[in-house]
Amino acid sequence: MASDPMLKFVGVGQEYPAKRAADERNDDFQEIARAYAIEKAEEQSSRCSQCGVPYCSTHCPLHNHIPDWLRLTAEGRLREAYELSNATSTMPEICGRICPQDRLCEGNCVIEFSGHGAVTIGSVEKFITDTAWDNGWVEPIRPLPDRGQSIGVIGAGPAGLTTAELMRARGYEVHVYDRHDRAGGLLTYGIPGFKLEKHVVTRRVQRLEDAGIVFHREFEVGRDSTLAELREKHDALLIATGVYKPRAIKAPGVGAPGVVDALDYLTASNRKGFGDAVPAFEDGTLNASGKNVVVIGGGDTAMDCVRTAVRQGANSVKCLYRRDRANMPGSQREVAHAEEEGVEFVWLSAPEAFDGADKVTGVRAAKMRLGQPDASGRRAPEPDPGSEFRLEADLVIKALGFDPEDLPKLFGASDLSVTRWGTLRVDHKTMQTSLDGVFAAGDIVRGASLVVWAIRDGRDVAERMHAYLKAKVPVREKVAA
Ligand SMILES: Cc1cc2nc3c(=O)[nH]c(=O)nc-3n(C[C@H](O)[C@H](O)[C@H](O)COP(=O)(O)OP(=O)(O)OC[C@H]3O[C@@H](n4cnc5c(N)ncnc54)[C@H](O)[C@@H]3O)c2cc1C
Ligand code: SF4
Repeated sequence: MASDPMLKFVGVGQEYPAKRAADERNDDFQEIARAYAIEKAEEQSSRCSQCGVPYCSTHCPLHNHIPDWLRLTAEGRLREAYELSNATSTMPEICGRICPQDRLCEGNCVIEFSGHGAVTIGSVEKFITDTAWDNGWVEPIRPLPDRGQSIGVIGAGPAGLTTAELMRARGYEVHVYDRHDRAGGLLTYGIPGFKLEKHVVTRRVQRLEDAGIVFHREFEVGRDSTLAELREKHDALLIATGVYKPRAIKAPGVGAPGVVDALDYLTASNRKGFGDAVPAFEDGTLNASGKNVVVIGGGDTAMDCVRTAVRQGANSVKCLYRRDRANMPGSQREVAHAEEEGVEFVWLSAPEAFDGADKVTGVRAAKMRLGQPDASGRRAPEPDPGSEFRLEADLVIKALGFDPEDLPKLFGASDLSVTRWGTLRVDHKTMQTSLDGVFAAGDIVRGASLVVWAIRDGRDVAERMHAYLKAKVPVREKVAA
């Protein structure tokens, strides 16, 4: 406080005129920005042709009632628009910010097909829900009378939080267990703050806590309890632990200091955003400032890494990917953003070795060419002999995607069935695993996917779990209830 130069003009207990003027200017600015945002949202919403064949809704995993809330927004009926969008989603403002709309709703807008550019559905969804928060229209969760049954949710990502909310609203006691110190899963520690501001996630979590959901933070199933112990405590369980085992690169020198995993890098950056002390960031290990950065991978995680490195003040940022632009898994929109920000993409290239014994100094790579389609239908890359080249690097970030951890071993539950990819095997009708009363949802079932699919799974599981728990209540008690 003492270092604030404006304080010398203000006596103790007096108003702070310069600050008041700044606040007023800020209020004016907020007012103008808000008016502009309303105008934009209404303008975009009125572009919806109400075509009657809502491909946008069909291609939204939540089947949001998009044309209806666009119409309400265009008519200025924002509260009704919010209520409708909230009816199918537990986190509309989050999806509005981070769904790859070009592959989902907006990519299937008939106006896009006619070449006039899709209605910006995601931004309207974000706008109406942010407006609802600002105006106090987001109601607290009001649980139905206590049902006398409790559920445990392992994993506080979007899948787990969605089930927790919907089950608490139905009157169940809900306990959420997560190994992190903050809830939110990848919303909190994976996705960078410039795409998803963290207060947007924390206010959602707070609303759940206010509804009586009990969060057990820094509680790792496998370390702090076995799965069997949690099954004893609760009438049903949900496993929504996501996928966290980074895919490895097998190349000489990969263990050199300065070659780091994407999620370690992004988590450090997100923790800094929260104001945490992060020694590995402060000592430079997980900080791109002033460095030549090479990110390896072509998915959305790689895009988040390159864009974070730019923001941290890297000297240069290159993205090495073994296929070409048309065959990359990441969103084209994200690539375009990264390119605008100065990231250089080195397509059709794969690392062969990492130079530097005490500290990485460069990546030796080879050009690739695309061969015949593989089992997934994508053309498989193969090395182009004699095309080796080298990139200077003092930070290399491995972003090749994630596989599931070995949950049966970790949870001490050998009878928990997994697929050959290590994801949990579920009965797709009941959404139960091989263990009675143990459900699963999100990335741990689908493999690395999207937030909107995790929310959809969380919503579906809540319905199935509710049916399961209702059937468990003895008939005598049901009659009394
Ligand atoms: C860097 C990155 C960026 C992404 N960007 C986007 C994006 O822009 N848009 C999008 O739609 N999707 C994006 N995704 C994908 C999206 O984040 C996931 O699909 C989604 O979060 C999956 O939700 P989930 O609830 O299944 O799991 P998670 O969000 O992974 O949450 C799982 C939770 O389980 C906890 N957990 C794990 N094991 C245990 C244990 N043993 N005991 C207790 N707790 C445990 C974890 O700590 C975590 O909090 C991104 C993913 C990454 C990695
Ligand atoms: S949830 Fe995602 S896909 Fe669905 S309308 Fe919103 S932004 Fe589009």
